[in-house]
Amino acid sequence: MTSSGLSVAACGRSVSRMTTQSRVSPPRGIPDTVAQLRATFRSGRTRPLEWRLEQLAAVQRMLTEREAEFAEALRKDLGRPPVDAWLADLAPVAAEAKYASKHLRRWARPTRVGVPLSVQPARAWYQYEPLGTVLVIGPWNYPIHLVLAPLVAAVAAGNCVVLKPSEQTPACAAALARLVPQYLDRDAVTVVEGAVAETEELLDQGFDHCLFTGSPGVGKKVMAAAAKHLTPVTLELGGKSPVIVTADANLRVAAKRIAWAKLLNSGQTCVAPDYALVERSVRDRFVTELGRAVDAMRDDPALPVLDARQAARLAALVDQAGGTVTHGGTVEVDAHHAELTVVVDPDAGADVLRDEIFGPVLPVVTVDSMDDAIAHVQQGPKPLAVYLFSEDRADEQRVLAEISNGGTVVNHLIYHLLVPGLPFGGVGNSGTGAYHGQWGFQAFSHRKAVLRKPTRPDPALAYPPYSKLKEVVMRRLF
Ligand code: NAD
Repeated sequence: MTSSGLSVAACGRSVSRMTTQSRVSPPRGIPDTVAQLRATFRSGRTRPLEWRLEQLAAVQRMLTEREAEFAEALRKDLGRPPVDAWLADLAPVAAEAKYASKHLRRWARPTRVGVPLSVQPARAWYQYEPLGTVLVIGPWNYPIHLVLAPLVAAVAAGNCVVLKPSEQTPACAAALARLVPQYLDRDAVTVVEGAVAETEELLDQGFDHCLFTGSPGVGKKVMAAAAKHLTPVTLELGGKSPVIVTADANLRVAAKRIAWAKLLNSGQTCVAPDYALVERSVRDRFVTELGRAVDAMRDDPALPVLDARQAARLAALVDQAGGTVTHGGTVEVDAHHAELTVVVDPDAGADVLRDEIFGPVLPVVTVDSMDDAIAHVQQGPKPLAVYLFSEDRADEQRVLAEISNGGTVVNHLIYHLLVPGLPFGGVGNSGTGAYHGQWGFQAFSHRKAVLRKPTRPDPALAYPPYSKLKEVVMRRLF
């Protein structure tokens, strides 16, 4: 790492020289690295399906053979236990790569479409082409998963890729920079380590696509920087994802599953339940079950959060929340640990009900009806996820019809991420575009329209001058 925090782990024979240079001279490192990737793309090497399948196999091999190294990096950066590292960061990416390998030939097939009478005789189809050289910017909360899952989509579509992991998880960024070039095509896939300045410099190179995962605030900056070059973006953002618990919900299961989802990575998950909206008649029972479920799942109540800054932010959210703390409440700022803290009915204007919590704090807001719950969600920006615990299909229909959000799960949480046939993405404030499975392949591909006409027949009808008779015929045809 240089003092500016940059290192470029790149990229083939000629670029390995550049790697050394870039550690000394970051401003020269990034443009040269991107230029090298562009040259690889122009050479056509990444287009054949064979190359793409090789890269997908390489991702799977890397995750299996180097699991221990990735797990160690995740432990260093986030205190994540090895099982969680495998479950949350490595296994889902390997599954994505396997799924893409299995379906790639079908996804990439040209699709024929009908031709109207006015254009016949002709053949029309659309076919997918890679976009070119693309940029993936990752966040810190799943620092391996959220860089490599977009990589799977990008190489499946035949692109060259720059991966920019989060600077907040330096051990993971270093592991990616070290391991990716050992497995993937070094001339086509590069890891750039760095923070804001390096990301800005990258964006200034004008990529053919950028997939950004992070906060809505930074997402706006990335979109603005990308707009200067008309770089299209997929934005995977965050926000406040509610879980609604109705009076007829299976409360014990709801509490257990909500506790599990909020404990996962100490609540630092984009699709974690941010807050619960619980019907008044079951609120107290739900809160009791929730406390029990949390205690049953954790021997040690102190959950690790990223750093002291995040811990101080969470402590302030709890201190200023008002309401009643029914579980947890302790945040150790210096040790950056926090208990899973349940706050029942915080003050209406409290930050804990306004900002994305992104940590182990769960406000429980009492509502009198489904109308109340839906109105509460509708007041805010469109969430990434909405969760509903209810045994009534009419409730499900209302939530689906009346709330606009990225994805919905009924009677569980988070599992929609693991279904590769489902698009994963937000809407409005929670994101733009989607990926996973075929949706990822499409996000990194251009759908090219093609029309082929024979040169015969070549009727005079199609050319001016247009006589009355020609006009009558044309009007019939169109
Ligand atoms: P962040 O927005 O602070 O940072 C994300 C990335 O952007 C990092 O790589 C960082 O280096 C870069 N960055 C930061 N400032 C920048 C700037 N001014 N210009 C260009 N790049 C910049 O996000 P984070 O704190 O790492 O992650 C937490 C956020 O990400 C939460 O809002 C969470 O909900 C969201 N998130 C969303 C998803 C999803 O799939 N939708 C997944 C995980 C996290």
